[in-house]
Amino acid sequence: MRNGKLWSVGLAVLLALGSVARAQSMGEHRGPTGGSQGTGEHRGPNSGARSGRGELKVYFVDVEGGQSTLFVMPDGESLLVDTGSADSRNPAAPRDATRIAAVCKLAGVTRIDNLVVTHYHSDHVGGLPQLVGMVPVGRFIDHGENREGEEVQGGAPTVAGWNAYRRVLAESHAEHLVVKPGDVLPVKAMRVEVVSGDGEVIGRPLAAGGEQNAACAASPLKDAEGTENDRSLGMVITFGKLRILDLGDLTWAKERALMCPVDKLGKVDVYIVSHHGLVNSGSPALVDAIAPRVAIMDNGPRKGGAPATFETIEGSSRLKDLWQLHTAEGSDARHNAAESRIANLPGPDAGNTLKLTGWLDGSLSVTNGRTGETVEYPAP
Ligand SMILES: [Zn+2]
Repeated sequence: MRNGKLWSVGLAVLLALGSVARAQSMGEHRGPTGGSQGTGEHRGPNSGARSGRGELKVYFVDVEGGQSTLFVMPDGESLLVDTGSADSRNPAAPRDATRIAAVCKLAGVTRIDNLVVTHYHSDHVGGLPQLVGMVPVGRFIDHGENREGEEVQGGAPTVAGWNAYRRVLAESHAEHLVVKPGDVLPVKAMRVEVVSGDGEVIGRPLAAGGEQNAACAASPLKDAEGTENDRSLGMVITFGKLRILDLGDLTWAKERALMCPVDKLGKVDVYIVSHHGLVNSGSPALVDAIAPRVAIMDNGPRKGGAPATFETIEGSSRLKDLWQLHTAEGSDARHNAAESRIANLPGPDAGNTLKLTGWLDGSLSVTNGRTGETVEYPAP
C-alpha cells in the first residue's frame, strides 16, 4: 500500500511536470514575443488563431539513418514510430535511446502512450529495449510475427531484434496490439489509418484516394525484397485537413500494390520519405500521386539520400521543400537540399532534430534544430 501511495504521488508530480512542460512547449508559438528570441522560432500571421484549436507536434529524432518519429497530439497523447538502433558499446547512455528520451523530455512526454514498431530491422526496433528502460510505454503496436529468418541475408540481427522485443513484451504490463491494413489506431486527436502491414495493403482506397494513377505507366517495376521491409506497417495520419504519410521502409514493389492502377492513398501534405531515401523505395508511382508539399527524410550521412530518390521527390508537382536529417554525403550538392533545410551537416554529429508543427487547417511549419529557423507552409 505504501509503495502504491508513493507511486501515485510520484505519478501526480510527473503528470503535473508533464503538463507544465507541455504548456511551456506550446508557449513557443503562443507567447507575445514568440520563440523568435529564445529559440529562433517565429510566428506566422495566423499562428495564434491556429494554435487556439491545438497543434500537432512531430519530432524527427536523429538516429543516424534509422527511424524514430515522435507525434505529440494537442491533448498530450503521444505516439512514437520506431526506436532507432541498439547501442551495445555504450549501455549506460545508448546513443539512440538517449536521444529519443531527451526529445520526449523536451516535448513534455513522460510516457510514450503508443509505440509503433513498423518492422523488425535493427534500425527501427533495435533501440526499443534500451528506450523502455528510460521512458515507460503504454501500448505497443506492430504488424505481428517477424517473417525474416536467419537464412535471409542480414536476417540474424532481425531475429535478434525481434527476440529482444518479444522479451520486452513478455515482461511488460503494457497493452500489445497487432494491426492490419484497414485498421484505425485507438488514438483520439488524430486519425491513424493502417494502409500496409505484414506484406499486405488495404484492399479499398481511403476516402481521399480512388483516382486512376497516371504515374504507374512510367514507374519501373522492381522485385519485392523478401525481407521485413516488405512487411512494414504503413500509416496515413490525418489531423484536421493535414495528411501525413509514413510507410516505414515499405518497398517499391509493395508501393505498387497500394498505388496502381488506382491510387488508394490520395494526396498528402507531408511525406516521411520511405526507407531513408534508399532507391528500393519511393517509386514515382507513389511520390507523384501523393504529391507532398513537404518531404522529410530520415537519412544518415551515408545511408539513404540516393540521387534518384532526390530527383523523384523534387520533381513532384506540389513540393515546396525537402528536409533532411543529414547531408547525404554520397550524393552531390545538386542532390541534397539547401543547407538551411538540413539538420546535421558533415562533421562532428550533434544529433539535431527536425520539428514539424501541424494545424487543423492544413498549415504546417518545420523548425531546423540546428539553426532554430522555422519555415511556415500555409494551408493549400
Ligand atoms: Zn530502415
